[in-house]
Amino acid sequence: MNRLAGKTALITGAAQGIGLAFAKAYMAEGARVALADIDEGRVLAAAAETGDAAIAVHMDVTDQSSIDAGVATTVDAFGQIDILINNAAIFTAAPIEQITRQQYARVFDINVSGTLFTLQAVARHMIDRGIKGRIINMASQAGRRGEPLVAVYCASKAAVISLTQSAGLNLIQHGINVNAISPGVVNGKHWDGVDALFAEYEGKAPGQKKQEVGEAVPFGRMGTAEDLTGMAIFLASDDASYIVAQTYNVDGGNWMN
Ligand code: NAD
Repeated sequence: MNRLAGKTALITGAAQGIGLAFAKAYMAEGARVALADIDEGRVLAAAAETGDAAIAVHMDVTDQSSIDAGVATTVDAFGQIDILINNAAIFTAAPIEQITRQQYARVFDINVSGTLFTLQAVARHMIDRGIKGRIINMASQAGRRGEPLVAVYCASKAAVISLTQSAGLNLIQHGINVNAISPGVVNGKHWDGVDALFAEYEGKAPGQKKQEVGEAVPFGRMGTAEDLTGMAIFLASDDASYIVAQTYNVDGGNWMN
């Protein structure tokens, strides 16, 4: 369809899961993509698998010099960055009385500070070059409401929704649109870890939590990464130029539960 022909995108957390699906979907629309991830081996393999329009960038979103180097590597390879997807995040779960400061700090460092300072680095690049760019943050249904055992992750994603509003209102004066996608439950490797945490804290059998959340989705199943790609393409396309500071649910109706 070539809706993103001539555009270049930097996608964080792109070695697997939703970020990798976004990278493939963007390339199918004609974009060139930098796949950035802290997992160097996996991101190298992912970029090799996706083809000539992709490069792998070893990047840790908690480290400012790593963010700056990742942006510079992408600009060196492709000339400029038109689209950023702030997708890197980690999940955690624990009862309130057992949450540690270390656990809280790690989640907020990746999910919130990582989102803000990657956004800042790319926004500075776009402003310097006069690029009317697009920035898409990955929120979550977990940021719309509290969930038992998931306080830290929920709070981090609520912060991403709030950052999207403020950054969106701030950066539109430069012609940079900032919006977010809020998925519900999306099948993938991420759920192996989620299942293990719920097995630990709720005594669920392996796979039980995943099955339960899938059955609760009004659409009738968990989402897939591919269910989200249409929104990611739309928000980066010319059709979305008047959309500013919004967070869109793509969740099979799960948010309404
Ligand atoms: P995932 O765990 O499969 O992938 C996340 C990627 O981020 C991994 O490749 C990991 O190596 C990378 N990463 C972790 N820390 C990093 C760091 N410091 N710097 C750079 N990269 C780092 O996750 P996913 O399921 O594909 O989720 C992608 C996004 O969607 C996340 O923001 C997540 O919170 C959000 N989300 C996922 C779901 C779901 O059910 N899977 C639901 C709602 C929202």
